[in-house]
Amino acid sequence: MLSGHTDVVPVAGQPWSSDPFTLRDGNDGRLYGRGTCDMKGFIACVLSMVPAWVKAPLQQPIYLGFSYDEEIGCVGAPSLIKRFYERYSSTAHVIVGEPTSMQPVVAQKRGDKSAHHGNWPRSPQQPS
Ligand SMILES: [Zn+2]
Repeated sequence: MLSGHTDVVPVAGQPWSSDPFTLRDGNDGRLYGRGTCDMKGFIACVLSMVPAWVKAPLQQPIYLGFSYDEEIGCVGAPSLIKRFYERYSSTAHVIVGEPTSMQPVVAQKRGDKSAHHGNWPRSPQQPS
């Protein structure tokens, strides 16, 4: 499963010099906008691969799971996890496209909703 969240940190009260929801080329090799790194870039990469995956002779399905309201308290992830396991029962691996400064993060606290985004509550298939 490739997973991420579709929401972004709210912009209210922040001093943006342009519309934060319009992608802007900074002419410095970077693109700017709210959520471009966390996580629109990852989602765009994943979605751009879908046409190739549809044509590929996959040995296993690739699931895409996108949650919502992650930035304001991990509201969407629990229902995503619940519905996924109701329908598919298991998956071999999950890659969450959170920005980690190019450092792999292979585990994370689970079940603690006080932690910020990227925190997956325990599912029925995950060990304690
Ligand atoms: Zn995030």
